[in-house]
Amino acid sequence: MNIQLALAEVNAAAAARPDGVKHAPIVMESLLQAGALREIAPFLQEKGYGEVVLVVDANTWEAAGKQLAGHMETAGAAYRVCTLAPNSQGDVIADERTIVRLMLDAPLQVQALIAVGSGTIHDIVRFVCCQTGRDFISVPTAASVDGFTSVGAPIIVDGVKITVPAIAPCAIFADLEVLAAAPQRLTAAGFADMLGKFTSLADWKFSSELAGEPFCPLAYDLTEQALAKCIEFACDISTCSQEGVAVLMEALLLSGWSMLLVGHSRPASGGEHHLSHHFEMAYLKEGRRQLLHGAKVGVASVLLAGLYRERLAEAYPGIYGGLPQPDQLRTWLRDAGGPADPADIGLSEALIAEAMSEAHKLRDRYTGLKHLVLQAGGEG
Ligand SMILES: [Zn+2]
Repeated sequence: MNIQLALAEVNAAAAARPDGVKHAPIVMESLLQAGALREIAPFLQEKGYGEVVLVVDANTWEAAGKQLAGHMETAGAAYRVCTLAPNSQGDVIADERTIVRLMLDAPLQVQALIAVGSGTIHDIVRFVCCQTGRDFISVPTAASVDGFTSVGAPIIVDGVKITVPAIAPCAIFADLEVLAAAPQRLTAAGFADMLGKFTSLADWKFSSELAGEPFCPLAYDLTEQALAKCIEFACDISTCSQEGVAVLMEALLLSGWSMLLVGHSRPASGGEHHLSHHFEMAYLKEGRRQLLHGAKVGVASVLLAGLYRERLAEAYPGIYGGLPQPDQLRTWLRDAGGPADPADIGLSEALIAEAMSEAHKLRDRYTGLKHLVLQAGGEG
């Protein structure tokens, strides 16, 4: 799969259809193939990087870090390793403690930091690279989320999650052997993050038609096509075959690039993400163990698709009429090996009810969710 070519096509389409496109072409060395890890040391040498830091945790060191370090040794490329430690609940989180740890392990002569991991390690590295003026290189170890190429970093400060400006990677090396060997729940989470696009795309169209919010047909089409391909290959994705994982990772990258083109996350984040954020903040407050982003988004998508079909499909058939049945979404999620129902992720009825009436306040964005709350006389 030539993902660099796919990116060139995205950039060409953006030049030809600039409606809603905010940014210059996306410059990102992109590789999605089996054995991509072997291409990193030659890339670093060709670009003239001196010493780099491989940022890992115990799991991602085993999944890819160790192998990458071996390739760096063989090529004679200078590197050091920063192993991020989990918190008392066993999660590596993007908080003050972890950020300072990385800053201590990445002295200023280091020119680039390589995130070897899934979403959280990427967020820590993108933030530190932005703050300290170093290049950020992405090595995903699972097709678990569409945020690898994001410019925003969700970090936890004083126990509260905030999203701060950061930078996108200048290069991404996605090794299909690594991605296909990732735990199935991580691949399922990436698939669930994609399934969330059914409601996010519908909400985006709705916000544009009812509230005049910025809309970009190209970013919409790219995200919709990426979603359609994931559905077509749902069986391959559920077996975590290299072919299935390649389709999923390409879709996640396309979704990420669509957000970069328009400079906001509307194509990929609607009411289902607002619900997911609400659940996350509640869990954080309760000191519960963190769930995968996609796990929450998947469950939220089932809930929201049910609500939209019931309450909005008749009035807005062109927007919400085509949403899949909640049962169909559940089947896709379950077949992929991920959670589908609130009980699977320990969500109480009370928290769901609270999220349904409060989550829309998290972002100043019009969605079907917000529309229904306002209609019922709730606060915007
Ligand atoms: Zn997401």
